[in-house]
Amino acid sequence: MQIEPTLLTDLFKAINNTIDINAEEVTALDQAIGDGDHVINLQRGLKALAAQSAELAQLDWIMAWQKMGMTLMTSVGGASGSLFGTLFVAMSKAAREQFVIGEVGRSINLQDFAVIFASGVEAVKKRGKSDAGQKTMLDVLIPVAESLRCDASKCVVITEVLDNVVLTAITGMESTKNMLATQGRASFLEERSRGHIDAGAKTSQLMICAVIEILKEQLES
Ligand code: ADP
Ligand code: MG
Repeated sequence: MQIEPTLLTDLFKAINNTIDINAEEVTALDQAIGDGDHVINLQRGLKALAAQSAELAQLDWIMAWQKMGMTLMTSVGGASGSLFGTLFVAMSKAAREQFVIGEVGRSINLQDFAVIFASGVEAVKKRGKSDAGQKTMLDVLIPVAESLRCDASKCVVITEVLDNVVLTAITGMESTKNMLATQGRASFLEERSRGHIDAGAKTSQLMICAVIEILKEQLES
């Protein structure tokens, strides 16, 4: 399966849509153990990306991820702005360093994407000084990166790779519910942070599942 930046327009539409539909639910989660602004922060960034989609679709992946990361860093705000921004800036850097220029041009396959995404997630861990098990977006991003890299390297059937990503994202998101938060604002609540899903884990899961939906549609067309 080959993915090109022209797909970004559809991806941003689907991502904006899923975040808008679930806005109320996620805001309630962030109000319970955070400051309630996560969805508004994220929507600001996602609208900015959608507005740039025609321009981004003209770029190669290295340039597109760099620009997407910078846009998210400057428009989202909050902890999540710098973390989501770091994900894409680091993916651009990894693509530039690990692949021969031109190889990750306008078309990327799932195996290469898996390696690049894993590098992006590593950078988020460093930026957030955090890891899995701390009740954050990383409880979705880390297992998804692992599942993708593991499946893609084993030549698992593509639809199965995508289904596993969905399952892993949902399991990771749900796993945050009973975790004790030890990073981010929710950590101030200590034991009272248990019993609520982390907002960033929820939006990460929703966005990942929206991307997979679009990739599946592309496979079928
Ligand atoms: P803020 O907490 O600054 O208001 P947001 O509300 O936009 O920022 O985002 C909160 C989300 O960011 C949390 O739900 C969590 O998933 C994620 N998060 C916060 N701090 C960290 C961290 N250090 N590492 C990883 N993720 C984090
Ligand atoms: Mg917040």
